[in-house]
Amino acid sequence: MPSILIVDDERFHTDILINLLKNNYQLFSSTNGKEAKEKAERHQPDLILLDISMPGINGFDLCIWLKEHPLLCDIPVIFLTGKNSIEDEIKGLELGAVDYITKPLSPPIVKARVRTHLALKEAHRKEQQRADSLDEIVTQRTQELLKEIEDRKIIEQTLRRQESELRMILDNALAGMFSTDENGIILSFNPAAEKIFAYSENEVIGQKVGILFTETSSQNYMRDVKQCVPKERSELFERSGMEVMAIRKNNEPFPLQILVAELPSNGSSHQRFISSFFDLSFQKQQERQLFQFSKMESLSALAGGIIHDYNNMLAVILGYAELLQMKVKHDPVLFNYADTIVKSAERGSTLSKKLLSISQRDSSDKNQHDINHLVVDIQQILENLLDVDIQLDVQLAPTSCQTQLDAGDFNDALLNLCTNAKYAMPKGGSLSISSKILEPSNEEKQILQLQKGDYILLSITDTGTGMNEEVLAKLFDPFYTTKGKDGTGLGMTQVYNFMQRSHGAITVDSSPGKGSSFYLYFPLAGALVSEPEPEPEPEPEPAA
Ligand code: ADP
Ligand code: MG
Repeated sequence: MPSILIVDDERFHTDILINLLKNNYQLFSSTNGKEAKEKAERHQPDLILLDISMPGINGFDLCIWLKEHPLLCDIPVIFLTGKNSIEDEIKGLELGAVDYITKPLSPPIVKARVRTHLALKEAHRKEQQRADSLDEIVTQRTQELLKEIEDRKIIEQTLRRQESELRMILDNALAGMFSTDENGIILSFNPAAEKIFAYSENEVIGQKVGILFTETSSQNYMRDVKQCVPKERSELFERSGMEVMAIRKNNEPFPLQILVAELPSNGSSHQRFISSFFDLSFQKQQERQLFQFSKMESLSALAGGIIHDYNNMLAVILGYAELLQMKVKHDPVLFNYADTIVKSAERGSTLSKKLLSISQRDSSDKNQHDINHLVVDIQQILENLLDVDIQLDVQLAPTSCQTQLDAGDFNDALLNLCTNAKYAMPKGGSLSISSKILEPSNEEKQILQLQKGDYILLSITDTGTGMNEEVLAKLFDPFYTTKGKDGTGLGMTQVYNFMQRSHGAITVDSSPGKGSSFYLYFPLAGALVSEPEPEPEPEPEPAA
């Protein structure tokens, strides 16, 4: 029940009010200001009905006191004014009263005003309560948000740290790495990958992996990625390390060993894959060199073993055939038969000599020669050999190009190379021979097994038909020829073995329609620096 404090020095008025209000409110009354203060503090009523003119502390003073009191200031005060004075009413409202009731008191007005102001106070109280609880909610939520912000900051810091660590690993990894989504769209590309493919990260991000692989390889990659549902993850790892054909920015295809793994989803519904890979071109080139070397080794062993016996048998055949020729010189038919035997035996003998010279491990001539002089000496023979519509261009290094080699073998090698070039240019063209001194790059040294120091590079370039991959793979193989009966397939074998004997190396650059360049590296006399510790040689693969 709401409570009301009635303050009036006239008992008569107090009684009227008590009678009017007692049924609905808890009432306290007081006849003077001093007592009213005490009761107000003690009971803290919901409303005060306050007479203005009282002896001692009057209504205005009491109102001022109430409005300054921290606990009582919100209690609505209704003044009871005796004389109908507009000034008193205004003053009362200015001091903070909510209303005034004029005496003589009219019961319905008193009841109505009391009810209204108590209802207003209750509404105000509820409003206040709502505002207070809203304040509380806002404060609590603000605290929660601050905590959330703090937590998020810590998570972000951790993520940033992890990300920069990951970036550091990717940036410094020796293996090339890129990541893609399940549709093969490239999401990241590390510096090692940039180096291998010659694309910058910006050029490939957002592109499909197809930009990096041949069509078949990119289909294989996508097939692996598509099949990679978590339960098959181990299978993906098993199949990882597959060899694919990749394509550099300049369209050069090259072999790549690639491992693909799925990245943790981190709550995302999208799959992501990380691929790490190594460029196998260098390794493949080395393998090819080694394979070639071991094939030659086997050939030498084989040839050395049988050619002497074979030569002896040929000598016997030739001897008897010549005797036969003398005996049947008057019978042209028989003479022709014997002559064919002689010629075939002679061809066999030339071939076996060639084979024998190819299979030699050491040169018979171990003197130093200037390659420039050797080229100049043989230039006339080369010009005679080449057709008139083949232009021979010789550009020799201005300095001396001394190296230790067998001059006869050198001439044979140059003749073999130029004969092949001539054959490759049936409609004419140009053949350039040039020499220069250079220090091979580290890569050249590793692939060609060259020593540290200067080399003479003799280049023989023609503008002929060029060679496809298949021919290039078998180029130095003994008896490999594309010329049918016109070829022996021993020319390039001779060149290769001669280069081995001269402690040099040979490489070829050729493609169909683009001509061919042969590069012959000879160690410059006195220029080689002995290596501290030679690398242990890997086991040669058995020759195919
Ligand atoms: P042959 O000349 O008897 O065929 P070689 O060993 O000299 O044997 O050469 C082997 C093969 O290499 C040739 O048949 C030819 O197909 C290819 N070849 C060599 N040199 C060249 C060249 N300059 N241009 C094109 N093809 C070449
Ligand atoms: Mg030849």
